[in-house]
Amino acid sequence: MACLAEYNKVNKVIKLNHQIQEYLNTKTMDRQLDFRQIAARFLDLYKQKVVRTTRNISDSQRFQSLIRSNEFARNIFSLSQNLCSRYENDIWQARVLDCIDLETIYSNVEAMQGSEDDYLDRLVKELLRYFKRDFFKWCDKPECSNCCDSEHQTVVGHQGPNAEERRFDCGVVETYKCQSCGSITRFPRYNDPVKLLETRKGRCGEWCNLFMLFLKAFGIESRYVWNREDHVWCEFYSTHLKRWVHVDSCEQSFDEPHIYSNNWGKHMSYAIAFGRGGCSEVSKRYIVKNQLPRDQISEDDLQFLLSFITKRLRMNLSDSEIYKLSCRDEQERLQLMKGDSTDRQATGSSSVPQGRQSGSASWKSTRGEDGKR
Ligand SMILES: [Zn+2]
Repeated sequence: MACLAEYNKVNKVIKLNHQIQEYLNTKTMDRQLDFRQIAARFLDLYKQKVVRTTRNISDSQRFQSLIRSNEFARNIFSLSQNLCSRYENDIWQARVLDCIDLETIYSNVEAMQGSEDDYLDRLVKELLRYFKRDFFKWCDKPECSNCCDSEHQTVVGHQGPNAEERRFDCGVVETYKCQSCGSITRFPRYNDPVKLLETRKGRCGEWCNLFMLFLKAFGIESRYVWNREDHVWCEFYSTHLKRWVHVDSCEQSFDEPHIYSNNWGKHMSYAIAFGRGGCSEVSKRYIVKNQLPRDQISEDDLQFLLSFITKRLRMNLSDSEIYKLSCRDEQERLQLMKGDSTDRQATGSSSVPQGRQSGSASWKSTRGEDGKR
């Protein structure tokens, strides 16, 4: 089999060489057309190679042993299983559209300056504004369920969810005691984004979770970015900017990938993006200083793992879809390799305030995200 494949490969090269020779023999005036044909043929061969490589998932053994031996790899794999296809849910997406003020959103997008080309970017900016200003609420401590005071709430501890809370994918319940009236308030941390349409409050986990569903509900290609140091945000693919663009709903932040390193002063090790079409290592886009040691897995194993998961996600896609996604990967890889170019590329405002915007001062300080370190 290997021999036959090799034979076919050599045969193709011989044929191409033959075509090039023919091209060189033609009269000058005919050359342009022939050149186009040859270029198209080369491109076609390249596409075939990309698709073949993606469809060839032969390293299952290495994957299995990595998952067995490395906890970080296990976590990444489990995140990919949970996140990559999570938001491809028509019913959930329809629920979002039922709950929001589409008229306000669309009229605000129309009112923004721009062209047809950057419509999607304007829509995402408006969704960030709407989500933060009109829809979702930040919650350090919940209001007291008895007297509605939120200033005098003290954490008592954590509990498991009750049956009702478990229905909505709640992992943990924080409990608070009100110093004014003595009542106990439960704050269930829901993971079900549809439940969040109703509760409309939370911290970065809830914000990112529901905002991902918002983006998907509008048919916007997006990814969930996970950072090992307890933060999550989103990215969407801008057909106008032709790249993945950072968006953080907690901060109403559009294309400001350096805010965590520069403005929050956050120390980070890994940032990984999870999407329908693959998993990508995007640390270089976000971690521009205060890099924590990347000692959880060898760089080679991490690259292998992400590529393995990505191949599996793309298994059932069409050839042209696989090729499109591979081209994007390649482009992103080059952009990230250039490193400092992200800053120049980013279109976000240059006067971002110091420190994190969401959350109370003491909460931000505890997390080292107030920009004061
Ligand atoms: Zn109270």
